[in-house]
Amino acid sequence: MQKEREFREGDIVRHFKRELEDPKSKKYLYRIVSVATHSETREKYIVYKALYDDGGVYVRPYDMFMSEVDHEKYPDIRQKYRFEAVDGNYMPDVEKTIASLKANRFDVSYFAAAEEAAAYIDGEINGEVVGFGDSMTMIKMKLFDRLSSHNEVHDPKQSRCEDEFQQLAREALTTDVYLTSVNAMSETGEMVNIDGTGNRVAGSLYGHHRVYFVVGVNKIAPDLESAICRARNVAGPLNARKYDLPTPCVKGEMRCYDCTSQSRICNAEVIYRKKMNHMDKAEVILIGEELGF
Ligand code: SF4
Repeated sequence: MQKEREFREGDIVRHFKRELEDPKSKKYLYRIVSVATHSETREKYIVYKALYDDGGVYVRPYDMFMSEVDHEKYPDIRQKYRFEAVDGNYMPDVEKTIASLKANRFDVSYFAAAEEAAAYIDGEINGEVVGFGDSMTMIKMKLFDRLSSHNEVHDPKQSRCEDEFQQLAREALTTDVYLTSVNAMSETGEMVNIDGTGNRVAGSLYGHHRVYFVVGVNKIAPDLESAICRARNVAGPLNARKYDLPTPCVKGEMRCYDCTSQSRICNAEVIYRKKMNHMDKAEVILIGEELGF
């Protein structure tokens, strides 16, 4: 079996009949649940879950799942294999995501462009004490520069040494307002964050009247299980690569190995299912661009 034809738990795949459907629908999209072994015959099967209609769970013999399309029977189909990975081509349902987040008591503001979102945040937060969690999205949007001109901002990213980082991270935990991002969110309205030091997830959960989650649509996955997989297998390795850590996800394939490295950056994994009770507001600033990881 060719390496690129291996599927892992959490992969989103499309059946070839999807070519015949409206690309805006989720018809014939599936999430790999597991590779299973028949207890009697030892034959391998793939267990997969539909991302449409009733979300049914199916099993199919592994070899059949990985086989090529019968192009004699389906001469108009372009896809080579019966199932192929969607990879970065997943088109999220933004409207569904927004509705689901609101049902989970998150406020949501959607902006097509990062600049519009930055201007909105700039207007919302004025003359306040603000804490930042580590976020490539926020760095790309230059939110520290914008907000620190008219707020008191505590951002550990501005530190020049470890002691200063710890000081700023502690200060950021006791501010009125907190801004951070997430590593993944689901169309079903949950968000997922991983953290190595803990200040980012700690600040997002408690201690602030208002928390803003600044998120690009590239973080949206179809369901919670896919979002967890994204956080582990995409965001984790990309973060480790950003710091060139001596972890297997940097040296090896771009996936999580659930490593025991001292440099592991995935020590906590948090699922935000609903707005936390004490907060006046937890607002998701959703941006129609690819931002951060
Ligand atoms: S647990 Fe280890 S291997 Fe997995 S993403 Fe985190 S640092 Fe990489």
